[in-house]
Amino acid sequence: MSLIRRIDLRGADAASVDYRASVPRAEFDVEAATHQVQPILDAVRARGVEAITDFSARFDGVSSDDIAVPREAITAALDELDPTVRAALEESIRRLRATSEAELEHDVTSAVAPGATVTHRKVPIDRVGLYVPGGLAPLVSSVVMNVVPAQVAGVRSIALASPPQKNHGGLPEPTILAACALLGIDEVYAVGGAQAIAMFAYGAGPCARVDLVTGPGNIYVAAAKRLLRGVVGIDSEAGPTEIAILADDSADAAFVAADMVSQAEHDPMAASVLVTDSLVLADAVEAELDKQLFATRHTERIRTALGGRQSGIVLVDDMDQGVEVVDAYAAEHLEIVTRDAAAHAARVRNAGAIFVGPWSPVSLGDYCAGSNHVLPTAGCACHSSGLSVRAFTRSVHVIDYTQAALAEVADHVVTLAEAEDLPGHGQAVSVRFGSDRSER
Ligand code: NAD
Repeated sequence: MSLIRRIDLRGADAASVDYRASVPRAEFDVEAATHQVQPILDAVRARGVEAITDFSARFDGVSSDDIAVPREAITAALDELDPTVRAALEESIRRLRATSEAELEHDVTSAVAPGATVTHRKVPIDRVGLYVPGGLAPLVSSVVMNVVPAQVAGVRSIALASPPQKNHGGLPEPTILAACALLGIDEVYAVGGAQAIAMFAYGAGPCARVDLVTGPGNIYVAAAKRLLRGVVGIDSEAGPTEIAILADDSADAAFVAADMVSQAEHDPMAASVLVTDSLVLADAVEAELDKQLFATRHTERIRTALGGRQSGIVLVDDMDQGVEVVDAYAAEHLEIVTRDAAAHAARVRNAGAIFVGPWSPVSLGDYCAGSNHVLPTAGCACHSSGLSVRAFTRSVHVIDYTQAALAEVADHVVTLAEAEDLPGHGQAVSVRFGSDRSER
C-alpha cells in the first residue's frame, strides 16, 4: 500500500472545484486544539507559576517550580558549545542580520499641503516574548530566527521560553541556552507549549507580561497564539510545518522526496505535499519516499506525517493549474522545481516563503539562507507574513498642522462630520476659527 495518498485534480478547474477545500489539510487543526488549550490559558491566568509547574509536570515530565533559568547556566552552556555548532550558528546569525538590517524601515514624513505633515514614526515594541520549540527537537535555530530581527528592530526587553527537559535538570536544551548566550539574551524561562504563551501574555511569577509573542511551535502553541491574539500581539500562527513542492518532470525525484522527508521529520502533524503534472515523477517520488524513510532516524514520525490527511501527491494537468493549486494551499514553505522555476515563482501570491529551483531547498531556509524560518501555516500565508523586523516594529502616526493648514481643510472636515451626523467633530474645528462652521 502506498505511504502517501494521491489527490487527482486533473480535468478540474477553479470555476467548478474549490481548490482550497481539495488540498490536503490536517484533521486535528488549530481550531480543534483551542478546546484543549483554553483551560491551560485560564489556569495560568488564575494561578500563575503554580499552574505552569503543573503543566510542565504533566506534559514535559519535569517537576520544578523555578521557571527562570539562572544566568550562570546560560553562560556555561556557551562555554560547552561544540565549536562547529557555534560556527554554524554565527553564520546563520550573520546572514539573517544582514537581511534584517536591509529591511529596517525608517520614519516617513509626507507633506500633504503647506504646513501639514504626517509622519509614520517607526517605534520598536517595548517588550517581547520569544518562543523556541523543544518538544520533539531542540530548535536552536529558532533562537536565531526570533532574536536577530527583534534586536535589529531595537526591542529593549527580550524574554525567551523553551520547554524544560528531563535530561537537563529541567532546563531547556543546552544548545538553546548557548545560542541565547551567543546573542546576549539572559532572560530565559524553562516553560513550554501553551503555558509559555500564556505566561508571556498575562505575566507569571518572575516573567512580566510582554507586548508581543513571536515564534514557532506545535499545534498547541499555535492554538494558544490564536486564542491570546488581542490580549497580546502575535506574529502569526506558525504551527506544524508544511512543505508544498510544485514540480514538473525536470525535477529530481530523490531531491523532491528528501525535501518532503525533511519537513515531515518535524512533527507527526507536519505536512508534505507534492503538486505535479508528471505521473512519472509522482511514481518516482513515491518510490524514493519508501526508500528514504528507512534510511533516516525518525522513521515513525515521518511515516505518520506522510501518511496523514495533511500530506499527499496532487496531480494536475499542467503548471498553470499547479500554480492555482499551490496558491489555494498557501503553503508555509513552497518549493518550485520546474523548468521555468523563477517565472512560476513570480506568479505565486500565497506562500510563507518560496524556494526557487533545485539548489534552494527548504533546509537551507531552516538554517542559513538569510531568510526567516518562522512562517505562517495552515493557510494563514494568504494573510500573514513570516517573521521579520517589521513584526517587532510599530508605526506611530504623528500629525502636525499649522493654523493656516488646518484652516485650509476645515470646511472639508466640517462637511464630512455633518455627513456622518457627528456635528461635534465639525465644531471641534470650527471653534478654533471663531465661527460656527458646522452651521454652513
Ligand atoms: P514545542 O516546543 O512546540 O511543543 C512542546 C510543548 O507542547 C510541550 O512543552 C508541552 O507543554 C506541549 N504539549 C505537548 N503535548 C501536549 C498536549 N497534549 N496538550 C497540550 N500541550 C501539549 O515542540 P514540538 O512539539 O517539537 O513542536 C515544534 C513544532 O514547531 C513542530 O510542529 C514544527 O513543525 C513547528 N515549527 C514550525 C515552524 C513555523 O515557522 N511554522 C518553524 C519551526 C518549527
